Amino acid sequence: MRPVYLDNNATTRVDPAVVAEMLPFFTEQFGNASSMHAFGAQVGGALKTARRRLQDLLGAEFDHEIVYTSGGTESDNMAILSALETQGARNEVITSTVEHPAVLALCDWLERHRGVTVHRIPVDAKGRLDVEAYRKALGPKTAIVSIMWANNETGTVFPVERLAEMAHEAGALFHTDAVQAVGKLPIDLKSTEIDMLSLSGHKLHGPKGIGALYVRKGVRLRPMIRGGHQERGRRAGTENAPAIIGLGKAAELARLHMADEQTRVKALRDRLEQGLLQRIGNSFVTGDVENRLPNTANVAFEFIEGEAILLLLNRAGIAASSGSACTSGSLEPSHVLRAMKVPYTAAHGAIRFSFSRENGDADVDRVLDAMPAIIADLRSLSPFWKDKRPGAATDAAFNPTYA
Ligand SMILES: *Cc1c(COP(=O)(O)O)cnc(C)c1O
Repeated sequence: MRPVYLDNNATTRVDPAVVAEMLPFFTEQFGNASSMHAFGAQVGGALKTARRRLQDLLGAEFDHEIVYTSGGTESDNMAILSALETQGARNEVITSTVEHPAVLALCDWLERHRGVTVHRIPVDAKGRLDVEAYRKALGPKTAIVSIMWANNETGTVFPVERLAEMAHEAGALFHTDAVQAVGKLPIDLKSTEIDMLSLSGHKLHGPKGIGALYVRKGVRLRPMIRGGHQERGRRAGTENAPAIIGLGKAAELARLHMADEQTRVKALRDRLEQGLLQRIGNSFVTGDVENRLPNTANVAFEFIEGEAILLLLNRAGIAASSGSACTSGSLEPSHVLRAMKVPYTAAHGAIRFSFSRENGDADVDRVLDAMPAIIADLRSLSPFWKDKRPGAATDAAFNPTYA
């Protein structure tokens, strides 16, 4: 049975054209870009091409605004740590309650061990940022705001352009974790006030372990890693040439496929979502359906455990993801759904289906065929399910969209 991969927000398959572009840089063209001979020059040229391709995808005005890193996590850390060094007496950070751990865990640590004040702006039941709370948190002590462009679990898109303008009115820097947005949404940084932006290769059919931080011209960056003069001294160490070249190719492909993402991939997502809601009662979509990534569906099935659903889906050859981060063995539902106050009875049974350009109609059919029986079986075993009417356990404050 052909596997169905619907976990593209966790990672994507490296595009074969990306692999092909990378391979010569492991073999014949292995030079160090800094070397003064032909081996170095070959690599140097390819690195330039890669940088331009990434610049084009982001709408960055200058090529030196891109600093390569080991991925989204490093870029997020670099942006926030740098701002706390360069912003003088300002020592407060503003973020949201639904960020990726790459931001949230750093902020927790800064608060606990570095005396930094962190404001975590809440979201509403649809995952939308409380812009009034954000406005109130901004002030003369704000060093940096870090708010994601799009949420990895629900796909909810934040109005980062406006949020960046508000940050500047308060004299603060604005960083966005755009790991999920790059390649899925059109981005034109030169027409925004965004100061820094994080992206990651493996979320857009590029290699793992490579990413970038966009740093607007004129914004000071304090390096985390010091050494050689690579990346203009902002991130020392010999360039990971094959990975950078792969990321460049992935960026070029993402730009070419953007329209497909917005239309065909989105239609697949919508057909899956509507099909699930029609076939399965007591299910609803989480997140802001009007303002969402085209590839992401997060559907909550009440009164059952997401982990059990994933296990049975996996047995049917389908890969998806649950909202719950039960890394520590605790069965706490995801911090994102908790921040949205999705009732526990539903948050536990939330499943994220995330598409890519490699998915097709057959994938949607497979899930629609498998899911109704999986949910019915699990509910028949659930002590919470008995005698439930639609929406029975859903508290009044939370108002989901049922089919
Ligand atoms: C995956 C992801 C990251 C981490 O990126 P890595 O390259 O894996 O370090 C950060 N933020 C978001 C929103 C992500 O989805």
